[in-house]
Amino acid sequence: MADFRESVIAVSYIVAAVLFIFGLKQLSSPSTARAGNRLAAMGMALALGVTLLDRQILSFWSIALGTFIGAVMGIYFARTVQMTAMPQMVALFNGMGGATAALVSVAEFLRLSRSGEIIGKGEATSIVLGTIIGAISFTGSLIAFGKLQELLSGKPLQFPLQRAINALTLLAIFALGIWVVAGTGGAAALWILFAASLFLGAMFVLPIGGGDMPVVISILNSLTGLAAALTGFVLHNQMLVVAGVLVGASGTLLTLLMSTAMNRSVANVLFGAFGASGPSTAAADTGVQRTVRQTTTEDTAIALAYARSVVIVPGYGLAVAEAQHTVRELATDLEKRGVSVKYAIHPVAGRMPGHMNVLLAEANVPYDQLLEMDQVNGEFPQTDVVLVVGANDVVNPAARDDPSSPIYGMPILDVDRARNIIVLKRSMGHGFAGIDNALFYHEKTRMLFGDARQSLTEVGQALKSA
Ligand code: NAP
Repeated sequence: MADFRESVIAVSYIVAAVLFIFGLKQLSSPSTARAGNRLAAMGMALALGVTLLDRQILSFWSIALGTFIGAVMGIYFARTVQMTAMPQMVALFNGMGGATAALVSVAEFLRLSRSGEIIGKGEATSIVLGTIIGAISFTGSLIAFGKLQELLSGKPLQFPLQRAINALTLLAIFALGIWVVAGTGGAAALWILFAASLFLGAMFVLPIGGGDMPVVISILNSLTGLAAALTGFVLHNQMLVVAGVLVGASGTLLTLLMSTAMNRSVANVLFGAFGASGPSTAAADTGVQRTVRQTTTEDTAIALAYARSVVIVPGYGLAVAEAQHTVRELATDLEKRGVSVKYAIHPVAGRMPGHMNVLLAEANVPYDQLLEMDQVNGEFPQTDVVLVVGANDVVNPAARDDPSSPIYGMPILDVDRARNIIVLKRSMGHGFAGIDNALFYHEKTRMLFGDARQSLTEVGQALKSA
């Protein structure tokens, strides 16, 4: 009977792992992402369910209570959180994963020590690493949450001797770790190591600017995966190892993708204190008076109504203005008039990966209208009107043409190659990179100043009488 139970658990874990992998694969396209999410959730339910069959688990009630509390909180937050607050929710969830991995590692160490069992070097190493990485991920994620929720300043927080203090803390953690693995440090050393790692996590994220938090969260996410995998080794649970490795690997890939799309190295994100010098940095001020050409909602409506092809470029301002439904309504009205409407999606538009995809999906924009950067860039020269809605850095030609620009080399949407460009934003204010944008002074560009949702609503009304 015991053998049969073991086999059921082993086979179910393999099935759950396969469901995770296929679920992840499906998350790579907006059209299959929902199905992928469901598949991965089924895998998780299966993994949780069969783990309860494990004869080593004694208290079903505490597990049931934990699952219930977690599920209620999860459902509540998933239903109530604003789309713009999604990055901080991910940070919080990630922090909980890190804390869990660290606490499980410490608890397992205490249990083994009390039972008088000899803790092998391999097991002790997994416990130490699980504690360090989980604790760093926990406090790092809490600081990331605080910055994004504006409970803490979004500016990079730097103070004298910061790097020296971090280096010393890291050294102390290593020394304590070796002491614990050698079998001489005991529980006291592990607790101090735990506390030092919590401190290091906070100190590591404080000097990073609020805008870089999505990349930081992605890094912390991969660390949490690693910590969970190490906990899997400690608990001899293969499912936890597999799930942890998948989280770790996907978090690492996402980090690299985001850094590449911003043309910055991961080290620059972590140690570059981007944004420390405020929004006025590197405005490519040549001293030459440049002309800004303004337009009105009526003229915008006419330009759109008489276009054959329109490409909408959403950016962070679309999220701030919560204009996704309004832009979709305008697009539908244009399509009714026979205008072809597409959306150009830059990989780091907004403030989190897939930000624009999620917002537009919420407004039921058909997936086949969303074009990725590589697909759409070739289409701009044949596009009659590009409507830039709250995007700035991702359409800045300096990234392509000006080697002195801080964003030089970042791939951009080549909207300046379209026939006409209309930019919706509130002012000449800068975007995340804090630099001026030559597109706004281009002779083909017209600026429509105002809140994006308000402007789009008025353009929609004007379109009806155009
Ligand atoms: P952006 O360069 O940050 O510019 C957003 C623009 O939106 C601003 O210039 C702002 O101008 C405008 N805006 C704000 N509120 C608005 C409103 N209510 N109505 C209309 N416009 C409004 O945005 P982006 O072009 O999407 O570029 C994203 C930037 O974030 C990139 O530099 C990227 O590297 C960075 N980033 C992205 C991620 C990610 O994962 N997506 C992660 C980290 C960093 P006004 O103030 O004049 O209105």
